[in-house]
Amino acid sequence: MSDVELVLRSTRVITPEGTRAASVAVAGGRIEAVLPYDSAVPAGARLEDLGDDVLLPGLVDTHVHVNDPGRTEWEGFWTATRAAAAGGITTLVDMPLNSLPPTTTVDHLRTKQEVAAGKAHIDVGFWGGALPDNTKELRPLHEAGVFGFKAFLSPSGVDEFPHLDQDRLARSLAEISSFGGLLIVHAEDPHHLDAAPHQGGPKYADFLASRPRDAEDTAIAQLIAQAKRFDARVHILHLSSSDALPLIAEAKAAGVRLTVETCPHYLTLTAEEVPDGASEFKCCPPIREAANQDLLWQALADGTVDCVVTDHSPSTADLKTDDFATAWGGISGLQLSLAAVWTEARRRGHGLEDVVRWMSSRTAALVGLDARKGAIAPGHDADFAVLAPDETFTVDPAALQHRNPVTAYAGKTLHGVVRSTWLRGERIVADGEFSEPKGRLLTRNP
Ligand SMILES: [Zn+2]
Repeated sequence: MSDVELVLRSTRVITPEGTRAASVAVAGGRIEAVLPYDSAVPAGARLEDLGDDVLLPGLVDTHVHVNDPGRTEWEGFWTATRAAAAGGITTLVDMPLNSLPPTTTVDHLRTKQEVAAGKAHIDVGFWGGALPDNTKELRPLHEAGVFGFKAFLSPSGVDEFPHLDQDRLARSLAEISSFGGLLIVHAEDPHHLDAAPHQGGPKYADFLASRPRDAEDTAIAQLIAQAKRFDARVHILHLSSSDALPLIAEAKAAGVRLTVETCPHYLTLTAEEVPDGASEFKCCPPIREAANQDLLWQALADGTVDCVVTDHSPSTADLKTDDFATAWGGISGLQLSLAAVWTEARRRGHGLEDVVRWMSSRTAALVGLDARKGAIAPGHDADFAVLAPDETFTVDPAALQHRNPVTAYAGKTLHGVVRSTWLRGERIVADGEFSEPKGRLLTRNP
């Protein structure tokens, strides 16, 4: 233990075995040991006494649109990773679209890595993209270290990232399963979307009717069938429709290699509360009714839904018009995701251990980083969030770090103040003061 440089001591440390008073010894940026609370501090080590603030593993957010390079007026690695750090997130995985170029070839991946290097305040990894015409790029991208491949089953919102029809989905899945890769899917069926009423305008009810549950349910049913056919590993992105839950539960019980995420906005905001014209609440699939939300929480509790990620997808403020049909679809939640989910989780009787499981351990496991991230345990990176879980704050958009601080949470009072965030044993933000960027670029473990 002679090389321990830092000890973080708290009466509430969230470990895989539960919450307990402990002293966490850090050496070389990794957790050396989780010791009894009143252990002697090794000679030469610095003690950081956190009192009753909770020490939890830094969150791992596997669904973030950084949009850099190419749409940097929307977001960028510097601003997105600062927002994430301020919210207790220490690892993010960037989505392959909305940047220019999209991450659909190895060259494009290299471009993105070059842009991210030096700007990342937290660790950053990359998803690749599966397009109708890039099947031969998938294996090289996998070998270059992307964590898996994103595909859309309906139009993505940007022309350079076309969606897969069922034939192309099958072709991509056959290829990806041949090398043991992971396909992550935006699951809305284009035919059901086309058949839905498209009223347009500022009324949220009209927007909701244009993205019906059956579009999700149908796409998920088709995806499950294809996953079975190829014995492929698939992940459903941003589940909103609770009607799909029985189907998902059944597939999981039958051994289909399926995981599912949902997002803070589906768990904490409801269709009933969205004011007309308030397109900061627009995302696809949409925020649905309160009764739908109750079922998503049940599914998280029983494991049908595995994890919670932000789907942080900002744009410039001018694209958030008051017409729900044409406004940019995306909610910016990086900095507030922990507090938003914790606020609702505690109201529903869940513990912080549950939040850590949904937003850190399971997301780390999704991308195969669970030997290094997502737990306060020996051998893991010393990535932490320090949280005052009972303290509240009111969301002020001016205090948000992402580039265009549009937020669906403005004015809400949330529980859980992130006091500081730590990456490999170094404090990267505390009380709004950031260190120089110390994030590293991550690749899939071979
Ligand atoms: Zn997304």
